[in-house]
Order: sequence, then structure tokens, then C-alpha cells
Amino acid sequence: MKVTLSCSQCLADYKKNPTQDLEMFLRDPFLADLNEDGVYVGKCTRSHKLEAIISHPKFEMLFQSGALAFIYGFHREAISSAATSLERFFEFCTFALWEKLGVKEEEATRAWKELSKQSERQLGAFYSLYLALLKTPFPVSEFALQKLVTTRNKVIHQGVIPTREGTKGFLKDVFELIDESSRRLEAHCGDEMTKICLRETEHRRERAIAKGIVSSDAPTLGIGYLVVGGMHAEDESFDERMQILWRQNSHSIRRMP
Ligand SMILES: [Zn+2]
Repeated sequence: MKVTLSCSQCLADYKKNPTQDLEMFLRDPFLADLNEDGVYVGKCTRSHKLEAIISHPKFEMLFQSGALAFIYGFHREAISSAATSLERFFEFCTFALWEKLGVKEEEATRAWKELSKQSERQLGAFYSLYLALLKTPFPVSEFALQKLVTTRNKVIHQGVIPTREGTKGFLKDVFELIDESSRRLEAHCGDEMTKICLRETEHRRERAIAKGIVSSDAPTLGIGYLVVGGMHAEDESFDERMQILWRQNSHSIRRMP
């Protein structure tokens, strides 16, 4: 799956001379293969050297991969990525909640190793922490979480081929769960969520420098237009965000290798 990256040098040039609409300016992004390291090296379409460490948490990148898979017509892949994004979102929140409770990173990582073997255990840990901090249970039925799990299992384990409408509905449900839960959690552990995000980025940088992939001053970078996370108007809906993603990518689809 490809992800779209915008070049910091292009953006700097644009700011000096903003002669066209920013959305149009960014419509020709650098296409990269989504990778586990979150580190990208290459050249943008205007031949600037691109060396970047992604600043987004894993769940945001996975959702983006799912959203792009949907746009390109890969519905099974879209559901698989969005479902995994949701699991990693719960992981991200669990670490933020632990951080809020003063748990050290090494201890949290050790605990997660045991939980990570089964998704039910991960969910149990998250529910319990959510209740402890927000004093109210996580609204499982409000977000139709069980329906999402059933659909995911049918698609991934039983080989069911989802329809385009069904896939879009799944993505929308996952989006709304992540978006709304993030808002609720931010009121209680917003600083810790930011800290976990920065820590994840710094660990990527350390690993990439150790492997000799990037120089020590490689910038951190946000991807072109992020459906989950990123900067949005407060009331921008899922449909509006997907339309923007479509407009930005309909051009680059034609030049995909
Ligand atoms: Zn550039």
C-alpha cells in the first residue's frame, strides 16, 4: 500500500509564493510504500531530497492505508487495515492511560508483551483503565464495537468479500469510534497522548539512526492529508475527509508504478 507524503521544502517554497490553492499544490505528493519503520528516504516530485520520520502514531497510518485501499477499490484490504488500526488505537490509549497513572515506559512495555498475544486481553485492559480514569464504562454498544469485530472476522477469517458500501460503512464506524473516543480521552489524558505520540516518533528516529537509514537531523514529517488525526476543521465529517483524500489521490493513482 502506498502512503502520500508532502515535502517540507515544497511547503516552504509554497509559503514564500502562495500563487495557487494549497490543496492543488499538494495534489502531486511523494508516494511511498507504507513501512514498519515509519522512515522514508527518496525524492519528491520536484526533486527535493526527502528524508523523514513520520510523526503520526501507527493507528493513524494504518487507517490511512485502509482509506487509500478503499479509494483504490481494495475492499478486503481496507477492512483489514481499518480493523488493525482500531486495535492499535486501543494500544495507544492503553499506554497513554498507563502514563497518566505514572507507570514507567519499561514496565508498560513489559505488561503489553503479555497482553499483545490476545486482542481480548488488550480490550479488557483498555476497558478497565478507561473506567478507572473516566469513571464511566467505555461505550461499547454506542460504537457498535461487536458489529465491527464480527465484520472483521467474516472478512479476514472466512474470506467474505465485502461490498463497496459495506466497506465504506465499516471505515466510517471505525473512524467515528476513534474520533469520538479520542475527544473524550483528550479531556483526561491529552498531555499523555501527545507524549506517547512523541515517544513513538523518537523511537523510530533512534532505530533509523542506529540502522544508518537517516542522518541525526532528519526532520519529522506529517503525511499529506490524514483522515484520522491531523489538522481538520472541527465539524469536518468522515465523508468530507474521504472526498478530500480522493481529490488528492485521483491524480497520483494514474502514475502509480
Ligand atoms: Zn519537494
